[in-house]
Amino acid sequence: MEVLVINADLGPLHRVSLRHAVRMLVRRVAEVHEAHPDRLIGIYPVPTVVRLVRYVVTKWRYTAGPAWSRAGVLARDGRRCAYCGGLATTVDHVVPRSRGGRNTWLNTVAACDGCNQRKGDRTPAEAGMRPLYEPATPSWASLAR
Ligand SMILES: [Zn+2]
Repeated sequence: MEVLVINADLGPLHRVSLRHAVRMLVRRVAEVHEAHPDRLIGIYPVPTVVRLVRYVVTKWRYTAGPAWSRAGVLARDGRRCAYCGGLATTVDHVVPRSRGGRNTWLNTVAACDGCNQRKGDRTPAEAGMRPLYEPATPSWASLAR
């Protein structure tokens, strides 16, 4: 489980593990901004977003979007397979890695095992498998949900 860290001005920064977030709360460098309503650690609600107490100047928060990750692709696509709409457990490269496709938001979609294997080292057109949507770079806000 991951927790989104936001700056003192509410600008999203990055995601950390729950354990790391709790350490930030204990050290009082951050406060709970949003929490699970029904999950507790001890007597405290489990945070989903923590806010830094002091503003931190960063350069990279002005980048276009969050860095690519497999977990991020699954979150962006709501764990729905881009080809069949089923439960996605893997990430499919639209242009396969074996053919130069990269780990980017625009080249990856969530996929179930079956579709991923069926597509193999082919493009969607070659495989006759049309994605249900166009992959896009997610906003920070969408990943925070
Ligand atoms: Zn599928």
